[in-house]
Amino acid sequence: DYPLRDVYKRQLLGALEEPLTLTEHVLEPAFHVGVARSPADGSEFGPLHRAATRALELTHKPPVSACRLAEPPERGLQLRERLAGPLAIALEGEGLELAFQPILELESSRLVGAEVLCRWDDPVLGRQVPSDFINVAVATEQISALGRWVVEAALATLAAWDRAGHRLERIGINISALQLEDPHGMPFLREAVVRYGLATDRVVLELAEADVIALSGRAVDHLRDLHRQGFRLAMDDFGTGYSGLKRLTQLPFGQVKVDRSLIAAIDYDPMQQAMLMALVTTAAGSGVDLVAEGIERSRQLQMLQSLGCRYGQGFHLAPPLSAAEMEAALSDPSGRWRADAAGGVRVGEG
Ligand code: C2E
Ligand code: MG
Ligand code: MG
Repeated sequence: DYPLRDVYKRQLLGALEEPLTLTEHVLEPAFHVGVARSPADGSEFGPLHRAATRALELTHKPPVSACRLAEPPERGLQLRERLAGPLAIALEGEGLELAFQPILELESSRLVGAEVLCRWDDPVLGRQVPSDFINVAVATEQISALGRWVVEAALATLAAWDRAGHRLERIGINISALQLEDPHGMPFLREAVVRYGLATDRVVLELAEADVIALSGRAVDHLRDLHRQGFRLAMDDFGTGYSGLKRLTQLPFGQVKVDRSLIAAIDYDPMQQAMLMALVTTAAGSGVDLVAEGIERSRQLQMLQSLGCRYGQGFHLAPPLSAAEMEAALSDPSGRWRADAAGGVRVGEG
């Protein structure tokens, strides 16, 4: 059980990520490393390889890091035991918060909307990773309650911004398949939109591709119903769920959010460029908006622009913001978005 010290990780990755010069081209390799250890994670190739693959997948999830150790497979159960009770308390009280990540039109840097992301900072357990507590909420059937809280808080905020004259055109709200199965989940959404006096077409419901494939007939009916009511539907994390383009045409999705794993190497990998180009063509042909997720470097942004991808979000453009930060950004009349070199956010320049 060799201790994987940060300094070794930095040295190793630093050495691998040295820029290379090949004739007139400069290559800047980026590495992600998933580490499995024997005997803790297994003593044969199969289990070790699976553990390393799990660890590698973790490098793409928040907290993002180039190198991760495999976690024991029973982690899900442990998380559930540890988080289920406190999550129920947080849902009853004031424990949750929303972050807003700007979505931009890439060519113009115009702010076209924001994705609402749930945050939980527990007084005892500390700040929790969203995908962890969302998974626990799904496993313990608290996701409908969480979803209602998110919808209520997001719409209340949007309506308050409207009243203050700081209009945000559109918000994306993540929903999970279980919410579509819940007979009370969706009527609530419609009722809330009416109560806040908002148009349904300002709400984009984001459903992960992996969830889309597994939808029951009833959930699909709910989805079609929501679309008829004017809500917009987005297929989220496209490229991770193997649903393919066929599913896209069967359900009324107006937006596809391309998962960051398909964008990660877009600035230097011809394969990813070709895939994105195909997606751009398909999306344009079917009237679907394409949003690239996880744009982290200026070169990715440039490539996406030149491939014709219209919209995007990511740390390079703007990180998830607090409601107050988002409102400050909205109060800029130019509607343009600029992140300054210090990592802070400024709007309206240039
Ligand atoms: P998602 O819907 O795909 O949301 C985008 C995630 O990517 C967010 O992670 C965001 O912080 C992160 N992100 C944004 N830009 C970048 C970037 O440039 N690089 C990288 N590496 N990551 C970036 P977050 O907030 O941790 O949320 C994780 C997932 O949890 C979300 O993925 C969504 O599936 C789920 N989630 C979050 N809030 C809710 C919610 O209210 N309800 C439901 N059902 N799920 C939620
Ligand atoms: Mg999303
Ligand atoms: Mg996504």
